Amino acid sequence: MYQPQVDAASGRTLGLEALMRWRADDDRLVPPDRFIPVAEQSGLIKELGAWALRCAIDQAVSLRAAGHPLRMAVNVSMSQLLLPGFEQLVAEALAEGGLPASALEIEITESVAMQSPDIVLPRLAALKALGVGVAIDDFGTGYSSLSSLEKLAPDRLKIDRSFIIGLDAEGGDGIAAMIVELARSLGVKVVAEGVETVRQQQRLQALGCHEMQGYLFAKPMPVDELPVWLAQAAAGPGRPA
Ligand code: C2E
Ligand code: MG
Ligand code: MG
Repeated sequence: MYQPQVDAASGRTLGLEALMRWRADDDRLVPPDRFIPVAEQSGLIKELGAWALRCAIDQAVSLRAAGHPLRMAVNVSMSQLLLPGFEQLVAEALAEGGLPASALEIEITESVAMQSPDIVLPRLAALKALGVGVAIDDFGTGYSSLSSLEKLAPDRLKIDRSFIIGLDAEGGDGIAAMIVELARSLGVKVVAEGVETVRQQQRLQALGCHEMQGYLFAKPMPVDELPVWLAQAAAGPGRPA
């Protein structure tokens, strides 16, 4: 499934995040929280992650050909990042699919980014050296060392949904405002995750958040629905779909 990431000011779609689902025998879609941990334990994450990356790259290439040059974000877990030769796998997938590295962004959670920085930072640096973007997911829920964050120099911080929910309440802006400010000081872009209400959208716009993602704009959707959604969004930017 793919979920759009939109520009906070103009509503224009800038990117998509690939979100994995497992189709069960009875056609039900199993969410990633249920099967990714199992795949990590069993080692299947290697194949699954490579498959997700290839699918996302292929989709990004088809959308480009159809006139939608969007950034494509792919989630990567700790065990994937630490696989020997992970950056070669990414480089090969980009070359085989024919996508420029700058159109791909790897999302890793804040807890992964900050766990064993001695091991993780060089892996992320190798990805960045390819020209691939790095986003820190679920930001605000982990324990970032500010010096590690500066060394890591991510392209984007994704404010965790738990802090977006707070924007509905009077005086609930604290953490989101702090993350936007931190990102501004570091020269990093910010995406708000899980934006569901117009009030949240307006508060984030007032705070100067760059991009938003959430059910207010679109739920994660299958590839065949993307072209129609993108055409509708282009016809009326900023409108909830
Ligand atoms: P995430 O990367 O932080 O993704 C955001 C989650 O929030 C997604 O859940 C998305 O469907 C959901 N979401 C988006 N907008 C809204 C909203 O407005 N309201 C609410 N309530 N939820 C919203 P999903 O798809 O179940 O994914 C859960 C997590 O599973 C992801 O969190 C990510 O960490 C992981 N994941 C997903 N796909 C992959 C993958 O291909 N590889 C790996 N390693 N992990 C993945
Ligand atoms: Mg993510
Ligand atoms: Mg997240």
